[in-house]
Amino acid sequence: MSSFGSQVRGRVIRPEDAEYDRARRVYNADIDLRPSLIVQCADVADVIYCVNYAREQGLSAAVRGGGHSAPGFGTCDGGIVIDLGRMKGIRVDVERRIAQAEGGCAWGDLDHATHVFGLATPGGIIATTGIGGLTTGGGFGYLSRRYGLACDNLISADVVTADGRLLVASATENSDLFWAIRGGGGNFGIVTSFEFRLHPVAHVYAGPILYSLDQAGEVLGLFRDFMRTAPREFSAFFAFLIVPPAPPFPESLHGKTVCAIMCASTGDLATAEEIAKPLREFGPPLLCLPHPMPYPFLQSLFDRLLPHGLHHYWKADFVTELTDDAIAAHVKFGPAIPTVQSALHIYPMDGAIHDTGPDDTAFAHRDVRFVHIIAAVTPDPAALRPQRQWVRDYWDALHPHSASGSYVNFLMEEGDERIAQSYSGNHQRLAAIKHKYDPENVFRVNQNIKPVPARSAAS
Ligand SMILES: Cc1cc2nc3c(=O)[nH]c(=O)nc-3n(C[C@H](O)[C@H](O)[C@H](O)COP(=O)(O)OP(=O)(O)OC[C@H]3O[C@@H](n4cnc5c(N)ncnc54)[C@H](O)[C@@H]3O)c2cc1C
Repeated sequence: MSSFGSQVRGRVIRPEDAEYDRARRVYNADIDLRPSLIVQCADVADVIYCVNYAREQGLSAAVRGGGHSAPGFGTCDGGIVIDLGRMKGIRVDVERRIAQAEGGCAWGDLDHATHVFGLATPGGIIATTGIGGLTTGGGFGYLSRRYGLACDNLISADVVTADGRLLVASATENSDLFWAIRGGGGNFGIVTSFEFRLHPVAHVYAGPILYSLDQAGEVLGLFRDFMRTAPREFSAFFAFLIVPPAPPFPESLHGKTVCAIMCASTGDLATAEEIAKPLREFGPPLLCLPHPMPYPFLQSLFDRLLPHGLHHYWKADFVTELTDDAIAAHVKFGPAIPTVQSALHIYPMDGAIHDTGPDDTAFAHRDVRFVHIIAAVTPDPAALRPQRQWVRDYWDALHPHSASGSYVNFLMEEGDERIAQSYSGNHQRLAAIKHKYDPENVFRVNQNIKPVPARSAAS
C-alpha cells in the first residue's frame, strides 16, 4: 500500500485522513459508502497504477467522473475510488471543430472552453454533471434533437482497460471498444480523454413557460403535438415543478405547484420566438420566460437549484408514444410533487438521435420519442422515505404505457433484467466485448454488464 502511494502523483486519501469524509461523498447524499482508498488522479499514469492495483488486489474499483450517478457508482464500500475530477485539461481545435477533454471535466468546463469560439457539443442540462458518465451512458441535452447524443459526437477516446493498457478507441482503432463505450457506460475501461465533434452554437432562445396545474392534461397534449412537428433546432421538455422562491419568478408564484414547458432553440432567435408562439399563447400561461441567452447560461440555469449534497431517488422509462392514458397518469400523480428540487421531466429523444441505428452504437433505443424521469430530491434524508413511495407509485402507473427498458444513466440499482432491457438487442454483443476487455469484471461498480465469452453470448 505505501509503495503504491509513492507511485502516484495525485492525492491518495485513506480513512484516517482529515479530508476522507469529504472525498468519499458523491453528489447524491443518500449514498453513504466507505472506500478503503480514494485516489484523486493527476494524470493517465495514475489511472493506470490504480487499475493495476485494483486488479492485483481484487478490489472493487469505482470510477468517478463528475460523481453525479444517482445510485452512487462514483464510490464504493471497501474498494478503491479512482477519481478523475482533477483531470480537466481541454484543447479546442477551432478550425477542425473538435474538442479534446480529459475524463474529469464537467459539462460546464467543456461548454466554457468551446463557447468562446461559438461552438458546443450536446451535453446534459446541468453544468456540474461529468462528461465521463454522461457520454459513456449515451447522453442527451438541449442540442440532441439537432446534433444527436453526446456519444454520437464522440470521434475517439483514450481508454485505460482492465489489464492496464491505454488504448485509442475510434471508428478505425479498437472499433468494438469504440462501439461499446458509446452507451455501454463505464463497463469497458476508464476514458481518460474524449474527442468530441463541435457545432456552431452561441446564443439560444430559451427558458420555461409556466402553466396552471388545472390545465396539465391540455398542456401535456400540447407538448406532445408540438414536438411532433417542431424543427430539430427547437428542443423542449415538459415538467411538473414547485416554483422556486427566487427571481426571476414573481413572489405570487413562489412555492406554487405548476406545469411547464422548458424551451431551448439553437436556431435563428426571432424564428425561434415565432415557433414557440403556440406554447406562448396557450392558456394563457402564468409566466413566459424564454429569451435569448448565451448557451453556457442555459446549461447552468438549474445548477443552484440542484447543488451537491441533496438526497435523490429516481425512476425512469423510455416512452414510444405519450398516450392519453399516460397523460391521465401524469395528471393524477404529477401535482403531488414533494419538494422544490423534485421533478417530473419528459425529455424528447427524437430528431437526430434517430439518425443513428439501434446497433450502430451500444445505445440501443433509437426509436423512442421521449424519456420520462420522476425524481424525488430533498435536503432532508428522513423525508426521502415517503417521497420514494410517490416516485414508485407514479412510475408504476406510467410503466404499462412505457417502452421496455430505461436510459442507463437514469437507472438506480434495479437489477440485471432492467439493465439487459435497457440495452435491448445490443446486450449480448456488449457482454462479449466486456469479456474481451474486462473478463474478470474489474469495472463492476456501474450498471454492470457481466462478461460472457463471444460464443456463449451469441448462443
Ligand atoms: C442533476 C442531474 C442532471 C442530469 N441531467 C442529465 C441530462 O441532461 N442528460 C443526461 O443524459 N443525463 C443526465 N443526468 C444523468 C447523468 O448522465 C448520470 O448521472 C451520469 O452517470 C453522470 O456522470 P458523472 O461522470 O457525473 O457520474 P459518476 O458518478 O462520476 O459516474 C457514473 C458512471 O460513469 C462511469 N464513468 C464516469 N466517468 C467515466 C470515465 N471517464 N470513463 C469511464 N467511465 C466513467 C462511472 O464508472 C460510473 O459507473 C443527470 C444527472 C443528475 C444528477
